[in-house]
Amino acid sequence: MKQKSSQENKNKLFIGIFILIVSIYLSTFLHEFGHLIFAFIFGCKLPYMTFYLPTPIGGTDCYSPDAFLDNIPNWQNIVILAIGPIFVFLVGILFLLSLNLKFVKNSYVLSLMAYFFSFSAIGNGVLQFFSSSDISNLVQHGFNPWYFYILGIIGSLLLLYELFILKNFIKRTEPTTKERTANILTRIWIILVIFYFGIYFLLPLLF
Ligand SMILES: [Zn+2]
Repeated sequence: MKQKSSQENKNKLFIGIFILIVSIYLSTFLHEFGHLIFAFIFGCKLPYMTFYLPTPIGGTDCYSPDAFLDNIPNWQNIVILAIGPIFVFLVGILFLLSLNLKFVKNSYVLSLMAYFFSFSAIGNGVLQFFSSSDISNLVQHGFNPWYFYILGIIGSLLLLYELFILKNFIKRTEPTTKERTANILTRIWIILVIFYFGIYFLLPLLF
């Protein structure tokens, strides 16, 4: 009986780490997807995404027509640039709200997914609202960065709230899970968050 529960804990830890790593890449994808879909709507026939793996950094550009971004109205440039961080942020809020759905609450895996996906997506949005190539491009197009800073402040409060509910949330989700598993998961989570934030803040300094 004891061995079985320790094996279960290991499996849960493994699932948790896996979901966590997926969530980081998923948020990059959602960010680029926002750019891509609006580039397409405004007339880019062939938008494409690039991923600089294994880092969670990506980019979106227009393959055809070639000088697409130089030939569209300023407001369309602003929408395409701004929608990346806004799209991933909004999806993150939807993931956070989905934590309250009954079928999500009843499933350990689904609630972990909702939790980590929302944290990574909102975190991705917040980083980009405060410091990113998108925001510097937006400013060049005459965009007032305070719209982004305000969203970033709201997002930071949501992230603090999520860190605050982490322990209760793991306990509530799986009351039989040993305290130890919750602690290990929390530590790994914090290390990955620092690593993830570190990449975003340090890489621009290096290049
Ligand atoms: Zn972007």
